[in-house]
Amino acid sequence: MTTQDVVSAVRESVATRTPLRITGRSNWLDAGRPVRAGKTLSLRDDSGVVSYVPGDLTLTVRAGTTLAEIERVTLEHDQWLPLDPYGSSDGTIGATIATASAGPLASGFGLPRDLLLGLEFVNGRGEIVRAGGKVVKNVAGFDLSRLLTGSWGTLGVITELTLRLYARPRADRSFVVSLRGEQAKALAHAAYTAISPYAFQLVSASVARALGLGAHPACLVRLGGNEAVVAEQLIVLSQIAPTKEIEPHTWTALRELDVNADSVVRISNVPIQFLGASASILAEDIPGVYTCIDPRRGVLRIVVARNGQEGDDDTVAGGTSVEFGTDNGRSSEVIFEKLPADVWVRVSPSVVADSLSLGIRKAYDPHDILNPGILGD
Ligand SMILES: Cc1cc2nc3c(=O)[nH]c(=O)nc-3n(C[C@H](O)[C@H](O)[C@H](O)COP(=O)(O)OP(=O)(O)OC[C@H]3O[C@@H](n4cnc5c(N)ncnc54)[C@H](O)[C@@H]3O)c2cc1C
Repeated sequence: MTTQDVVSAVRESVATRTPLRITGRSNWLDAGRPVRAGKTLSLRDDSGVVSYVPGDLTLTVRAGTTLAEIERVTLEHDQWLPLDPYGSSDGTIGATIATASAGPLASGFGLPRDLLLGLEFVNGRGEIVRAGGKVVKNVAGFDLSRLLTGSWGTLGVITELTLRLYARPRADRSFVVSLRGEQAKALAHAAYTAISPYAFQLVSASVARALGLGAHPACLVRLGGNEAVVAEQLIVLSQIAPTKEIEPHTWTALRELDVNADSVVRISNVPIQFLGASASILAEDIPGVYTCIDPRRGVLRIVVARNGQEGDDDTVAGGTSVEFGTDNGRSSEVIFEKLPADVWVRVSPSVVADSLSLGIRKAYDPHDILNPGILGD
């Protein structure tokens, strides 16, 4: 599959009015709203490195390249792409950017859009568009790369991407702190003021149990840099509560908790708001409901496992957000990442119904052929 092949596929779909379902490695096609498509356009075989300049810390790859492949290639040069979306590393970079999939490392390195320098995509007219560039300081005019990030394939089929890499840290260690009483607040405060972790998650007892880290809410911390920097931050943490070192694959296990998800809801508010609320939210121990808080980003994630209790998705989503938002008078932002197909219309029929979004969609996909319905109509 080449960019020209994508152009032909899109132009044929326009001519025959046959909407397209865009796919990468199809690991997460049950996320987003149901798509009305007559044909699948897969980028799975369009993978590989286009150019890699270790000296510039930049890598250009085809959209079908997996995160695992990027990990392998950059490791040879002692570099890495700090992007760890939930699910698995078997996913493609094109899909990860199209869905703006962020994982625990977003706490230390920012969101997928912050690691994206530029991309090439084919819009719904079958035109090739290149946005951004291949170097760090590159954007002139509209930053289309950021517009395509998180557009779920509705504005264009991503074919090629240029990413910003980082040097691998000399030390990269992870720790768990079992939470009691006010420790969640003290740790969240430290994460905000005294340490700069690569990843920092306050997790409910159900998550700790699933990861084999005990039966109480816990705090997972990933510290990186040189040995001295890590040691200094560890002292700060240990002064708050006893810490225990854990294996790096604990983060992979945390990300894979989603694999059996029925529903995933993300609730965000100003980080300070999480300082007070964390302990009470984490105290809720509902079987099959996994709650994680990143107080540095102000994000609360609730994953409801497929074999959870009846009606969990509505109850959990509705209840938690309302209760959480009142304190500072600023309501929480609730984003549903995954819901059973029949629930979308009830709780979030569309996120692109406003005139501006409709205008942008019309400009990039005038015939409504790219993943129609995935963001609602
Ligand atoms: C079990 C599981 C749970 C996950 N949970 C989460 C989660 O909770 N939050 C989260 O953010 N991410 C989550 N992810 C997402 C994830 O890790 C990445 O988005 C991912 O990398 C999916 O890769 P894929 O190639 O299999 O995508 P696919 O499943 O093939 O595609 C995912 C979406 O991206 C679109 N897409 C794919 N390729 C392109 C392209 N080239 N151009 C435009 N659109 C494209 C598809 O239309 C589809 O809607 C999860 C993944 C899995 C497997």
